Amino acid sequence: MAFRDILGQERVLRWLKAAISQNRLTGSYLFVGPEGVGKATVAINLAKVLNCLSPKEGDACEACISCKKINKGIHPDILFIQPQGQVIKIDQIRDIQRNLSFRPIMAKRRIIIIDQAEAMPEASANAFLKTLEEPPLDTIFILIAQDKHMLLPTITSRCQIITFSPLPSKVIEDFLKNQGFEPINAQILAQLSSGSIKYAMRLGQREIPINLFKLWSEKRVSIPEILETAHTLADKDTAELSSLLEIYQSLWRDVLMFKIGCKEFIINKEKDLETVASHWGLQKVLDIMEMIEQVKQKLKQNVQKRLILEELAFNLEEDK
Ligand SMILES: [Zn+2]
Repeated sequence: MAFRDILGQERVLRWLKAAISQNRLTGSYLFVGPEGVGKATVAINLAKVLNCLSPKEGDACEACISCKKINKGIHPDILFIQPQGQVIKIDQIRDIQRNLSFRPIMAKRRIIIIDQAEAMPEASANAFLKTLEEPPLDTIFILIAQDKHMLLPTITSRCQIITFSPLPSKVIEDFLKNQGFEPINAQILAQLSSGSIKYAMRLGQREIPINLFKLWSEKRVSIPEILETAHTLADKDTAELSSLLEIYQSLWRDVLMFKIGCKEFIINKEKDLETVASHWGLQKVLDIMEMIEQVKQKLKQNVQKRLILEELAFNLEEDK
C-alpha cells in the first residue's frame, strides 16, 4: 500500500506531499483523529515515501529493499511502537532511546511511530519527553492519538498537530464492498460507522446482535439469560449500543419482510430467519421494532441503560 492507495484523507496527504517536496518536514508530528480513519497507515506510508530508493511521483515504489522491509515491519530504522497490554512501558521508551543512540543503519530518515500515544503512563511520557526535547536531526517522531488532551501538554506543544477527519461514508461503503460485503450491508454499516473503517468492520462481524437475536428468538430462554444479555449490553457505551440496536432492529425488519413475503428486501442473510419468523406473529414483530425504536430514543435522553434494556428484554419475553 502506498499514498495512492489510502482511502479518504486527501487533505492530509496533499499537505504531507507538499511538505516533502518542499523539504519542510519538521521533527515531530502528532496525528490526531478518531479510530480507524487511517492515521497509522499514513504514518507508515510517510516512512516509506521518505526512505524509498526509487520514489515515483512523490510516492513509494513498493519494490525496493526499503519499501519491502517497512511493509514486513522489519526495517531497523523504522520503529512502530504500540502498547504492550494496556500501556506503553518505560522499557519500550528505553528501546527507542537505545535505537537513537546509533546512526540509522539504512534509512535516510529514521521514523519513530508511537501508536496510541495516550497509553503512555506518566513515567513513560516523561522519559519520552527527554527524547523529544533533543531530537536527532535525521529522525522524525510521529505520535498517534485519538484525543490530544490525553497527552501531556509538554509533549503536544513540541509536535506539529495534523488532524484526521472521519471518512466519508461513501469511502467506507466502497471499502466494505471490496471486502466482500453485500452492497446493502455495506451501505448500512457505512452509515453506522461514524466514519471509521475499524468500527464498521467490527459492526460487520455482528456477533453481539446476532447472539441477541438468537437469545431472544428461541423459545426456551431463561430469565437470568435474558437479564445477562441486557446487562452485558448496558455496559457498552451509548454510541456503540445505539449502533447495535440499529442492527438489531434491521434484523427484525428482515423478519417482517420474510413474513409479508418481500424476501427481496431482506438485508441480513441469516440462516435462522425462517425459524425466527415462524415463532412470532406479525403484530408482535411490529411491536418489537417499535420497542427497539423507543429504546433508541430513550438512550438519547440519558435514561439509565440497564433499566431500559431490562424493560426491552422482558417485553420481548412476554406472550412468546
Ligand atoms: Zn521503494
